Amino acid sequence: MAATSLPPATRATYASCPRTNLGLIQGCQARAMRVLIVEDEIKMAALIRRGLREEGLSADVAIKGEDALWMAGATAYDAIVLDVMLPGLDGFQTCTKLREKSIWAPVLMLTARDSVEDRVAGLDGGADDYLTKPFSFAELLARLRALVRRGPVERPTVVEVGDLRLDPATHQVWRGGVEIELSPKELALLETFMRQPGVVLSRYHLLEHAWDYEYENRSNVVDVYVRYLREKVDRPFGAESIETVRGAGYRLRAAPPA
Ligand code: CA
Repeated sequence: MAATSLPPATRATYASCPRTNLGLIQGCQARAMRVLIVEDEIKMAALIRRGLREEGLSADVAIKGEDALWMAGATAYDAIVLDVMLPGLDGFQTCTKLREKSIWAPVLMLTARDSVEDRVAGLDGGADDYLTKPFSFAELLARLRALVRRGPVERPTVVEVGDLRLDPATHQVWRGGVEIELSPKELALLETFMRQPGVVLSRYHLLEHAWDYEYENRSNVVDVYVRYLREKVDRPFGAESIETVRGAGYRLRAAPPA
């Protein structure tokens, strides 16, 4: 592709990007790195692909979210660069579906504008980082490097423990198929438990994770909210999932008692 066909801002940032020191994994050049670029704007996709290839990386392009899903299912990509604006499935939906298919490759979202809503939607949908267009190629590489170093991490957007399910993005909780209404505090407390099933959590730990600093530091507030939670997530279902561990705190059973 001729450099003159690129948008001026992109051409400038790309041209100013030094060729050295940009190896994606420094000192690990022997390992082939493969990146999937999901972008329907052909010029932009080709520009990113060429830039990555010049850094010695393999890069494939999908122009639709649907294509990205099967390609990422067939190939273990080290990272996915995912544009938000796509025909058909948009970037958010594509990311959510990737995670639903247990594809945990780090996702770098490209957003068209610096919108808080876009960033929140992207991160809640399971993206790892985002970059606002127009971006500099050096920054794209730096962010990809950071993501690839971290590697694929299994982090379901919906947390599950036994038959309890919690979606932090939509603030919904279910036991079995039954949705449970919780207050924001109860939800925060339950999420803290569900992030560490089977682990005894002290009142201090629970306070620290589910309450902010403005809250008066009284540990019995934890006891009160544990009681509320039991009334909502356990008692109506005949369950006893939140255990009191005398002198230590509370524990969410990892599995129902035999
Ligand atoms: Ca696009």
